[in-house]
Amino acid sequence: MDQHWNGARRFLMYAVLVLVPVLVLGAILNLVITREADNNALLTAQLQASAINEAGIEPVLTGRPLTEGLTATERAELVESTNEVVRSGILRLRLRDLEGRIAFDAEYPLSPPGPPIIDRGLANLLKTGVPDPELAVLNTDTVDSTQGPQVRSIEVYLPIHRRGGENETMIGALEIYVPYEPIALNRDASLRRAHIALFGGLCGLWMLLAVMVWSTSKRIHRQSKANHHLSLHDGLTGLPNRALFVDRIEHAVAQASRTALPITTAIVGLDRFKAVNDTLGHETGDQLLRALAIRMRDSLRPGDTIARLGGDEFGFVLPNVGGQAAQALLQRLRAIIADEVQLEGVPMMVEASIGWSEWPLHGETADQLLRTADHALAEAKTGRAEVVAYQEGSINADPLRLSLIAELRQALASNQLELHYQTQVDARTQMPSGVEALIRWNHPTRGRIAPDYFIPLAESTGLIGPLTRWVIETAVSQLASWGPALGDLSVAINVSARNLSEVGIAEWIVERLQFHNVDPSRVVLEVTETSFTNDEAAASAHIATLDAAGIDVSLDDFGQGYTSLSHLANLRISELKIDRSFVTGMLEEPKKRAIVASVIELGHQLGFRVVAEGVETLAVYHELRDLRCDVMQGYLFSQPLSQSLLRASLLDYRIPAKRETVPAS
Ligand code: C2E
Ligand code: CA
Ligand code: CA
Repeated sequence: MDQHWNGARRFLMYAVLVLVPVLVLGAILNLVITREADNNALLTAQLQASAINEAGIEPVLTGRPLTEGLTATERAELVESTNEVVRSGILRLRLRDLEGRIAFDAEYPLSPPGPPIIDRGLANLLKTGVPDPELAVLNTDTVDSTQGPQVRSIEVYLPIHRRGGENETMIGALEIYVPYEPIALNRDASLRRAHIALFGGLCGLWMLLAVMVWSTSKRIHRQSKANHHLSLHDGLTGLPNRALFVDRIEHAVAQASRTALPITTAIVGLDRFKAVNDTLGHETGDQLLRALAIRMRDSLRPGDTIARLGGDEFGFVLPNVGGQAAQALLQRLRAIIADEVQLEGVPMMVEASIGWSEWPLHGETADQLLRTADHALAEAKTGRAEVVAYQEGSINADPLRLSLIAELRQALASNQLELHYQTQVDARTQMPSGVEALIRWNHPTRGRIAPDYFIPLAESTGLIGPLTRWVIETAVSQLASWGPALGDLSVAINVSARNLSEVGIAEWIVERLQFHNVDPSRVVLEVTETSFTNDEAAASAHIATLDAAGIDVSLDDFGQGYTSLSHLANLRISELKIDRSFVTGMLEEPKKRAIVASVIELGHQLGFRVVAEGVETLAVYHELRDLRCDVMQGYLFSQPLSQSLLRASLLDYRIPAKRETVPAS
């Protein structure tokens, strides 16, 4: 409705605008037409005069110059020939000699010649020889200004030529006043017709121009609106782009400054979207983005804004909501995103990480809100939680940490990772029975980075999946390459809790052992108690699979977590590894020794092998042997060593009791 009204108003405006040039054109054309009509009128009179001259004047004159006066015959014939003419309505007919005297006047045929007077019309004719009729009023003439009624007429002076001769010499002038009214009637009628045509033509032109200008302006208007829209919207999804998003935040902040209600700014990152693009193609990726964009937009409340910030990132401005309500709203949004998408009949599921910040708590300006939401998103992406509110000083805001995550990804691909092996010693034979594989990161610029630092990073990003596969693949293939020289040592490999929620990981491990032709009894997987707190069902199923394939599972860092004893009995594990925090200082602290002793006892009762790690001294070694611990590991026997050093140290192994000195830690 409003649009209609606007359109009509704009049309009216253009109509008025183009009316001006149309009117100017009309005025000019009118001037031309009128002048033409006037000229025609004068020409008509001149033609009448010529006809009179040719029919009734020149033929009756002998050809003598009129200055010499008329002969009686001439005068008599003139009277006769002009009689008709005067009766036909010609107002005046005079013959003038070349000096201006009236030689003959049809009205007074017998009057003698008057005084020589050269009036304007005559002078003109004498000078140019060409008739120049003009509109005049009869009896206002200088020659006879006072006699008779004043009538509008056309005054024509024509040259009178001598007839018959070789050269047509002018012998006098004919002065005729043709009545103007009959000619004017004609003139006015034709002028009226011309005016009607002109008016019609101009009206048509005006309408045409108005419509043309209006429609052109409409097109330009539409085009410029489209351009404006393009500059502020994302081409793929049609959603606002980052520029408009920032604008919307600013707008919301300006409004909230009055209402003092909170605003939530959220950034949604789609997880593994790149993988969809890489494996299914960009076309599918685009379709997916469009489908999700529609779904997200439809889930919003009026007044909320959704924008595409680029790639797989979307932004949300949610006015009047913050805190718990915002968290709940965004959790719901995440669930909506995670709903199955059908792309050409293929079902697809996308998970999202969401980081958000709240005005005015986490930022006063659009810029600050976006930055804090971005930090929160980075934290969400590390896997701590899917929907994360910004927290001041959170570790994920640490730029070093963020760049290390990227570098670790790089490290996996470019050989910066390496496995070291630490010997495990059988307490009974006092000889090495196995090794534990421990990962090392030789960073090109930061030097060696401890696994205690980067393993949690990998665990928090999902990078732990490929990393663990790399460790298993490397450890198993190296074990296979050692050959009989190192006997039938086992290798213990650390597996993170998060690995055990990955579908198919146990089967993959079994398959890799078969591939490298490694006896499953030579591989132990060390898992921690947290494996069972995350996704117990999945972890238990994986362990059952591994157990069935003959691979032992060890419960690492035992004592650190909170495994219930009934639970412990149900797990299909083969080994307990007492956490080194109890072992290292067990001789100094009786309670630690008591725990170690109890765990060894408990493990044996449940049928597990018991390993003690962090054995640094001979005294602890002896104590553990007395407590009937099965396997020991620690600096006392060996540091973790690279593959080549391990080989040398194993071939040259001597039991600790026979050594003079204890290796330093
Ligand atoms: P962990 O599984 O408890 O590994 C044993 C850690 O104790 C190793 O530290 C080892 O160097 C250290 N250690 C060995 N003997 C002694 C000793 O006598 N005294 C003391 N104080 N420490 C000793 P490292 O290599 O720095 O690894 C630290 C942790 O990083 C590991 O603890 C493990 O949780 C993790 N990690 C290492 N490699 C991997 C891996 O390939 N995958 C996974 N998921 N985690 C790994
Ligand atoms: Ca371990
Ligand atoms: Ca451990």
